[in-house]
Amino acid sequence: MQISVDMNLCESHGQCVFAAPEVFSFDDEDYLVHDATPDDALREKVEKAAAACPVRAITVSPLPATAS
Ligand code: SF4
Repeated sequence: MQISVDMNLCESHGQCVFAAPEVFSFDDEDYLVHDATPDDALREKVEKAAAACPVRAITVSPLPATAS
């Protein structure tokens, strides 16, 4: 899966960090940082994080198919 966070919307509420600390965290300057392509095993937590975000800044989408 692929995650994008609209940092223009993000107000650093931190609900995503509580819901999925493996994926979302704050850096030393309190900016949200995230793993853009976490393991699919974390999908449930990531979806909870996206749903918990009060400003709907988190978008979860499937990884683009790789040509082979
Ligand atoms: S819950 Fe939403 S607003 Fe809060 S830190 Fe996460 S992405 Fe930003």
